[in-house]
Amino acid sequence: MAFSLAATTLTDTAVKEPATTGQSLRDIIQLASYICDAPVAMVTKADDSELNLIAKLGFDGESILRKESFCGYAMEARDAVMVIPDTTLDSRFNTHSMVAKGPKYRFYAGSPLIDPDGYVIGTICVFDYQPKQLNQRQIDSLQALSRQVIAMLELTKLSEQLHQTSMTDALTGVNNRRAFDQRFEAEFARWQRTGQPFTLALIDIDHFKSFNDSFGHAAGDQALSEVAKLFQRHCRNYDFFARYGGEEFVLILPGTDRVSAYKTLEKLRLVVANHEWPLRQLTVSIGLASAEKFSDKKQLLEAADQVLYKAKTQGRNQTGVFSDS
Ligand code: GH3
Ligand code: MG
Ligand code: MG
Repeated sequence: MAFSLAATTLTDTAVKEPATTGQSLRDIIQLASYICDAPVAMVTKADDSELNLIAKLGFDGESILRKESFCGYAMEARDAVMVIPDTTLDSRFNTHSMVAKGPKYRFYAGSPLIDPDGYVIGTICVFDYQPKQLNQRQIDSLQALSRQVIAMLELTKLSEQLHQTSMTDALTGVNNRRAFDQRFEAEFARWQRTGQPFTLALIDIDHFKSFNDSFGHAAGDQALSEVAKLFQRHCRNYDFFARYGGEEFVLILPGTDRVSAYKTLEKLRLVVANHEWPLRQLTVSIGLASAEKFSDKKQLLEAADQVLYKAKTQGRNQTGVFSDS
């Protein structure tokens, strides 16, 4: 039984939704509570086995087992609002632990949340400790609120997708420069705050202009994507990989000093060099610098760039490490 039974105090904390959505959902369940004159109100979102409470008023749990819930029945009602005027008179619920024991709910009304594809994804519902009826206006209003919840969740989803798109490089599918700038800023601030080092690696494909010249821009695009995939696949999952621009990439290795970073980058360099390229072998040159020496992130970037340039002039297909000595 996943319901918490400490439901006697009024709480209104939204969970698992961004802050602005959380506030809007709290407003909506407050309205549901007023409209239905009921002390307990929730918005639930279903997964296979549970209903997660993404907003709640007058109830303390985080989730409800779907098969034991009132809302599970309300979801099956689809287009209608399910009203249980007296739970003790309904054979489906009169022995339910929330009726027979616990909070002893006597009244329930729940309206299914139907997404734009027609799927029922959860409910907005109210409970009361007294038996009662809802009039048609209250029922219509609860249904209107369920549509408002859907509109809000869809907007949130869209804005998350938009955010994701704005952080993703369209050609390679990896993080883009904007995402890197944000992460670099955050990682640098963390280094300054905690003293925990990180290493920055700049990666540049060797002789890529001639690759384009020989095989065309489309083949160049494909090769760029493949290099990105190889790095993304073989770097550690807590490293941050991004396309820096053109045929250059960047890798942030949090909590890593330059010696360990060098080993990691050499492995990655060899992954590219040893890959079976269909048109012509490709290699990358790498410049890396540890944040340890720097109090300014621009200087750290310049240091990595400086050793990358050196790796190029010394023959390419190698990893240069910045050292101030
Ligand atoms: P180096 O070894 O010194 O780095 O030589 P390079 O030829 O790789 O460097 P250069 O800066 O001269 O040329 C970079 C090339 O990368 C030229 C540019 O057309 C190509 N490039 C940059 N972005 C893209 C892209 O999105 N798609 C394709 N196909 N090529 C790109
Ligand atoms: Mg370049
Ligand atoms: Mg290049």
